[in-house]
Amino acid sequence: MFNKILIANRGEIACRVAATCKRLGITSVAVYSDADANAKHVAACDEAVHIGGSTAAESYLRVERIIEAALATGAQAVHPGYGFLSENEDFAHACEKAGIEFIGPPVEAIAAMGSKAAAKALMHSAAVPLVPGYHGDDQNADLLHRQADEIGYPVLLKASAGGGGKGMRVVERTEDFAAALASCKREAASSFGNDRVLIEKYLTRPRHVEVQVFADKHGGAVYLFDRDCSVQRRHQKVLEEAPAPALQPHVRRAMGEAAVAAARAVNYVGAGTVEFIMTAGGDFYFMEMNTRLQVEHPVTEMVTGQDLVEWQLRVAAGEPLPLEQDQLKIEGHAIEARIYAEHPARGFLPSTGTLKHLRMPEGVEFSLGIGGERAPVRIDSGVREGDTITPFYDPMIAKLIVHGASRDEALKRMSHALRDCEVVGPHTNVEFLQRIVTSVPFSTGDLDTGLIERHHDALFAPVAKPFREALALACGALITREGGVAHGASPWDALSHWRLNSGYTQTLNWRDVEKESAFTVLFSRDGESRTLTHNGKTEPFKWWTGAGKHECGATIGDAHVTGRVFIDGDTFHVFCRGEALAFEWQNLLAHAADAEHGEGRLTAPMPGKVIAVLVEQGAVVEKGQPLLVMEAMKMEHTIGAPAAGKVAEVLYGVGDQVADGAQLLVLDVE
Ligand code: ADP
Ligand code: ADP
Ligand code: MG
Repeated sequence: MFNKILIANRGEIACRVAATCKRLGITSVAVYSDADANAKHVAACDEAVHIGGSTAAESYLRVERIIEAALATGAQAVHPGYGFLSENEDFAHACEKAGIEFIGPPVEAIAAMGSKAAAKALMHSAAVPLVPGYHGDDQNADLLHRQADEIGYPVLLKASAGGGGKGMRVVERTEDFAAALASCKREAASSFGNDRVLIEKYLTRPRHVEVQVFADKHGGAVYLFDRDCSVQRRHQKVLEEAPAPALQPHVRRAMGEAAVAAARAVNYVGAGTVEFIMTAGGDFYFMEMNTRLQVEHPVTEMVTGQDLVEWQLRVAAGEPLPLEQDQLKIEGHAIEARIYAEHPARGFLPSTGTLKHLRMPEGVEFSLGIGGERAPVRIDSGVREGDTITPFYDPMIAKLIVHGASRDEALKRMSHALRDCEVVGPHTNVEFLQRIVTSVPFSTGDLDTGLIERHHDALFAPVAKPFREALALACGALITREGGVAHGASPWDALSHWRLNSGYTQTLNWRDVEKESAFTVLFSRDGESRTLTHNGKTEPFKWWTGAGKHECGATIGDAHVTGRVFIDGDTFHVFCRGEALAFEWQNLLAHAADAEHGEGRLTAPMPGKVIAVLVEQGAVVEKGQPLLVMEAMKMEHTIGAPAAGKVAEVLYGVGDQVADGAQLLVLDVE
């Protein structure tokens, strides 16, 4: 076994590989770009080498620089992770030349599977079933068009060198073929530097079922069963599970054996995934082979109890496969959800930003399922709170993996775990994942690659959130914060003074961040009794803070709620009952007072109507005391005294319209 390896990757997969190294006592070396100088994977490894600028081209794709780093640190082998150089034959070749073991298949196997077209030709000769189609060398446009006509529409055009869901076009009719071909070739050339395409029959409502295979250097090859990765957006996986639901045992075996045959056909070594497309009738066809560890490998680890990275290291070091086929079995069911920084409602556009607050459900990081002791919840993440999701790399925040005795148990566990994911900063797909996991088609196992698109309307329909409860928590957090510290012209400065007297009412101006709407809540206190008034309804209100960070609780009317509030400036992010809500406090009084401080003038912050005058001419007022309430843009704004003094003049009455900046009262400052 190796003593030291270099991990030529970043993010969660680099951390994942480092975790196994640590367990096996292997020294790990990280590489990092400028943007990743303080990244989690650098901290996770024993040593680290800076390899260049922030873009992948300047760092994680630099073959020579990475080889140099491996040689300089004395690493005996390089683990490429997934993405980046993992399926790059030049890199594997460069490792070989430098005398460093590439933890992956031989150069020839990468080359053979690197072209989807060539791989299909090879699979055909190994008697692996293929989707009807054309994968020939002749790329003449007319010939391709005739082939498509013969296959019958709809057809799917694929870039032969493609990957990651890119370079694919569905063609519905012969009239559309020429234009689709041209655009597919353009994308293929610009994304993969190779415009070769292949054509496949486009299957309707297929499932994506893939098989994990492993081979050693001594002719041993096994399959570690299947995964269903049908839930995809833009042909990219969102949820994956193992084993594939409702697979007949004879189909499972046939697929496993076909996958092993595929691996043997290219003299495969190491971890690989053979992807199949499967019809509702259970027929399956070879799609492609990914010659690396896959993003979704943890679900296989959870059901087999095997550490696939350990297997990779052992095989690369020349050891035989740790287990034979009949020693492998499936235990229970595992599901993985990819938590992405993205905007599901905006076509799944990536979102960037600092992770101001990041809380994952209770689980074990990179739990490896060793010795049958698998954690029910596993979290694989390459980021920590405070880290930034940059536009340079994949916007994945974490992989949430659950295991249960049955699919049903795993589903419940996933739904529960998703409720505990809290992210403030970039937008995420957490809510969307929850919607899929609890949807009828997913929970009943009615899976196919069109699930998200077909159920789009239901998955994106607005949900009723626990608004009243969340608002109670936000109000409690605001009152706690503002009551605790005396600063500036905050209305809360007056609280201590008022507490001596009977009661008081405070207007809280809020904005619902998601709905972009403003509203007002009245907080009243009279002796020991407190109420909140919203939408014309007054309800008893209590709140308290809990033991943990951000933890709090409240009762509003007869509802009892506990949750967490993360405060970012004046925005209160509330997590309760499995939902996230955000309210922004419109601290208008402070804004108005800031502007007016010391001048004794009080002006309208925006055009509106006076709805209450709380003081008379000659009144002696405390700093922060509410003087007048305006209504503007469907919101109430309370104008408070910027300093203690005497009201010299009230210039407007109830019902008066006032212009932006109009002076409302004159105050003689003490
Ligand atoms: P597939 O292997 O079927 O293409 P995957 O979801 O496993 O599907 O990966 C999609 C592509 O994007 C792969 O080429 C993978 O290497 C790359 N990829 C996915 N996530 C990341 C990531 N976090 N960092 C780098 N590359 C990634
Ligand atoms: P990539 O290299 O981008 O992963 P794949 O060939 O693995 O490309 O296909 C990606 C996805 O596209 C599959 O998981 C499946 O959802 C869909 N797909 C691929 N081939 C077909 C087909 N012939 N018919 C219908 N859908 C397909
Ligand atoms: Mg694929």
